[in-house]
Amino acid sequence: MDFSAMKALDEKYVLQTYGRNQVAIDHGKGATLWDPQGKEYIDFTSGIGVCSLGYADGEWAKAIYDQAMKLGHISNLFYTEPYAKLASKLVPAANMAAAFFGNSGAEANEGMIKLARKYSFEKYGQGRAAIITLRNSFHGRTITTLKATGQDHFHDFFFPFTEGFRYAEANNMDSLREQAGDDVCGVMMELIQGEGGVNPLDADYVREVAKLCGEKDWLLLIDEVQTGMGRTGTMFAFQQFGISPDVVTFAKGIAGGLPFGGFMVNEKCRNVLRTGDHGSTFGGNPMSAAAANVIMDRLTPAFLSQVAEKGQYLRDSIAKLNSPYVSGIRGMGLMIGVGVQGMTHKELKDKLMEAGLLCLTAGKDTLRLLPPLVISREEIDKGLAIMAKVMR
Ligand SMILES: *Cc1c(COP(=O)(O)O)cnc(C)c1O
Repeated sequence: MDFSAMKALDEKYVLQTYGRNQVAIDHGKGATLWDPQGKEYIDFTSGIGVCSLGYADGEWAKAIYDQAMKLGHISNLFYTEPYAKLASKLVPAANMAAAFFGNSGAEANEGMIKLARKYSFEKYGQGRAAIITLRNSFHGRTITTLKATGQDHFHDFFFPFTEGFRYAEANNMDSLREQAGDDVCGVMMELIQGEGGVNPLDADYVREVAKLCGEKDWLLLIDEVQTGMGRTGTMFAFQQFGISPDVVTFAKGIAGGLPFGGFMVNEKCRNVLRTGDHGSTFGGNPMSAAAANVIMDRLTPAFLSQVAEKGQYLRDSIAKLNSPYVSGIRGMGLMIGVGVQGMTHKELKDKLMEAGLLCLTAGKDTLRLLPPLVISREEIDKGLAIMAKVMR
């Protein structure tokens, strides 16, 4: 089927809720993709930070196939091996105590919010359920996680939203203290605000927030849906900030392209959610868990330090382009934000796409780069050559 036929069916039969690129993707290998006509693209998106092993990874595909031929699904009312194995790898890698498995980032954050409220209710009783989140954050698309998201334009149309969220300015302790009160049970934040524009928080600020949470017995709730699973050069970004979260969520990259999300808790929060308190029909299903086990096995310390090195190389090389369209470069590992000036971030994304490089946008003026973690030096250089052509 060619692009225009696909597009016609989509427009007739699908809700038009996405600002879609005018490109169809047919297949890929590594960090290279092809459209149905055979045009090649270098991929700096990984499908929004999901395809950490790129496309058509043999081990990943075989693990899914083998598991599907053995047992595709059976529900959480039974024990399954991929699930138990995954938990036993993931939890120690994050130095946490126990995990819950669901299917998406928003669902993971919902679970984390439920946990924070129950922790506080059991210890302090009713009326201590507010959660402070940061301005410019993004936490998901459900009614609750939209309200947790600290951007006003997400708070339209869908009233009534879940109550109990207040917003503080990022990197500003005074603003956080202004939102404090006897009704607070937790602080929830991304360590690099992804959708908001790839804005890393100051490490000193993050440590001060963690300290205040400790003093007030507010739970420190870290959303690593985008930053987790090796994206920033360590298994989780919090490991570079010198903090220990009470709860941390993950999703996007964990299963390399199959739906998977969840959260991990520390020892203090291990017994908050008990039998019947939380669940998910598909959560941790054997095929997604088998895929996630492959990701866990591949994210060795050597692999993670390569992610950090490739990220540094990409950031340095973009800086060396001396492009008049670049106002600044931010990020950690292979989560990179390029400030755009002189045209809009969407115009630049479209020009790069036309020239054969796929990128994302974020915030108001940021080009966001989330290449597959396995991207080769050769693929990075091809992408940089396209950037040089379009952006000089
Ligand atoms: C993508 C994202 C989410 C939402 O994840 P979904 O899987 O789309 O529900 C939540 N938090 C952060 C930080 C994200 O980047």
